[in-house]
Amino acid sequence: CGVFGVIGMADAANFVALGLHALQHRGQEAGGIVTYDPSVGFCSERRFGYVRDNFTKASVMATLPGTIGIGHVRYSTSGSKGATAMRDVQPFFGEFSMGGSAIAHNGNITNAESLRKELIERGSIFQSSSDSECIIHLMARSMGRTIPDRFEEALRKVEGAFSVVAMTRTKLMGVRDPLGVRPLVLGKLGDGWALSSETCALDIIGAEFIREIEPGEMVVISSEHGVQSHFPFRRMKPRSCIFEHVYFSRPDSILGGRSIYETRRQIGVELAREAPVEADLVCPVPDSGTPAAIGYSQESGIPYAMGIIRNQYMGRTFIEPTEQIRNMGVRLKLNVNRALIKGKRVILVDDSVVRGTTSRKIKDMILDAGAAEVHFRIASPPTAWPCFYGVDTPERSKLLAATMTEEEMCAWIGVDSLKFVSLDGLYRAAGEANGRDNNSPQYCDACFSGEYPIAPSDMIEKGFEM
Ligand code: 5GP
Ligand code: SF4
Ligand code: MG
Repeated sequence: CGVFGVIGMADAANFVALGLHALQHRGQEAGGIVTYDPSVGFCSERRFGYVRDNFTKASVMATLPGTIGIGHVRYSTSGSKGATAMRDVQPFFGEFSMGGSAIAHNGNITNAESLRKELIERGSIFQSSSDSECIIHLMARSMGRTIPDRFEEALRKVEGAFSVVAMTRTKLMGVRDPLGVRPLVLGKLGDGWALSSETCALDIIGAEFIREIEPGEMVVISSEHGVQSHFPFRRMKPRSCIFEHVYFSRPDSILGGRSIYETRRQIGVELAREAPVEADLVCPVPDSGTPAAIGYSQESGIPYAMGIIRNQYMGRTFIEPTEQIRNMGVRLKLNVNRALIKGKRVILVDDSVVRGTTSRKIKDMILDAGAAEVHFRIASPPTAWPCFYGVDTPERSKLLAATMTEEEMCAWIGVDSLKFVSLDGLYRAAGEANGRDNNSPQYCDACFSGEYPIAPSDMIEKGFEM
């Protein structure tokens, strides 16, 4: 998901809508905006579909007055079942004795089910099936005297990955879990402030990127006091999500002080060194494989070409929640550039293999177009474990790499060769010159290594074996 919030900006909702539009790649199922205006109170609009189809209409934007607002773009992750229901669309809102508060959450709370059970037993009435709603109920039960105190107390009970943007009538708040799994950044525009999942959304509104919110940091921003920062959690060595660098974030964003594009290009360089092969062309599987394919081509000297063309009017395939739509999605989105491919030995570069559906379909299309050889190079290690921290990977049995060796995957997909970048190669590309520190890894890489930095307690309860 993607979160965005602003304070101290006239017509805040317009800025929030623009920010969410720039974060649309993080969630395409639904979106919502909450604002506050003293003359009308809290205002909220939550809609299915793209930001540009909902939050551009004057009739909608007119219902969101005020100089403070937050928003959310949603895609459902492992916690939720099937397609999004309206009641699961964020931001969530709660009314407390000292006033209302709205929250927008990116990540996944790993103890949400036990928290929910406990809260329901004590009288909380849940409106949604979302893990994020726990935060509102924990705030409601808190004895804290201010909303920021309650927010902080609630988050101390929550385990898992959370980057949360929240608001009161007069304050914008932001927090990142102690490991900093999901990103969150701070920006400034005139006298106003913005919080965003990624820097690309600061760029769109012309805000200056000030800094990242640090892992474990909470900021409370108000017009009188500016940005006040503190660290309410026990401090830990951060382990942000390495998959943000591989796939999830937009290539024009800066994360952990690094350009996402440059890291992806460097993964391609590592891949070319680790898994060279003779071929005529290096082609990306667009768009997610493009920077790595550029790096592979530059390092290997094999020409880069657009062997697969993407229909720009289709969203991310993976994010469509049902298998059937996903299956169609590959063909709706990608087509082979036949004239280029015929008779050529082609290296295809993609970011990841999850179920293997995409790779297999693309191989069919490429061979059908008359390619002489097809070699897959993947810009991440084999995805063998599900993510419980906010990225929608399927259960283990559906992950190709959980049930097959690399050779078996190569045969199943039906290509001449299949190679993945090593975990060390990935870490080097992400700026760790000595690769992965196996005693104390610098990133979360659980979907590749199976080493979960936060015990997924709800899942363990249900019998998941690490
Ligand atoms: P598959 O077809 O193997 O199940 O999915 C792999 C494709 O899904 C890749 O092209 C990758 O770009 C895309 N993808 C989209 N979202 C995700 C995600 O959240 N996780 C992973 N691993 N791949 C994703
Ligand atoms: Fe990121 Fe993978 Fe860790 Fe999930 S399991 S937070 S996708 S590195
Ligand atoms: Mg892709």
